[in-house]
Amino acid sequence: MVNKKLTKKQLQEKQLLEDKKFRKHMIIGFSLLLMVAIVVLVFFLYWCDTKFFYRSYSLYGDEIPHNLICMNGNKLEHHESVQFIYNANVFYACSEKCKEHIFRHYDKVAFVADAFSGDTICKSDALIGLKERGKPDIVYFKNMQNLKNYYAAKQEK
Ligand SMILES: [Zn+2]
Repeated sequence: MVNKKLTKKQLQEKQLLEDKKFRKHMIIGFSLLLMVAIVVLVFFLYWCDTKFFYRSYSLYGDEIPHNLICMNGNKLEHHESVQFIYNANVFYACSEKCKEHIFRHYDKVAFVADAFSGDTICKSDALIGLKERGKPDIVYFKNMQNLKNYYAAKQEK
């Protein structure tokens, strides 16, 4: 047997080496666990922020779904907005407060100028786009042609 031939000192050294290896593995294991925890935290706890950040870039130049914006604040939202009907028009708002504000100041808030043509349009019928890449501000358009013209004109600048 090989083990029996090992002296006490050699055994101790072997033990020490194994301990060292074990500690090394533990450190690697914990580091990995910590990294996984951070990734999970970023993607789940801050999922909305991550998505919001991504959308504020990726949606530039495209039509934005109505349920991602607040028609009172005229901004892209972190969370899905609520739909409601007022004067037979469908609106979206981020909160009850914003919904109320649209009710109370309907004539002012529900209508907006097309960002390209300047025509007055109702927000419920409008196409929505980002004003600038990476920023939450939104602009409204009467139709797809105006939306395309708006972004084409911005590119030329
Ligand atoms: Zn709002």
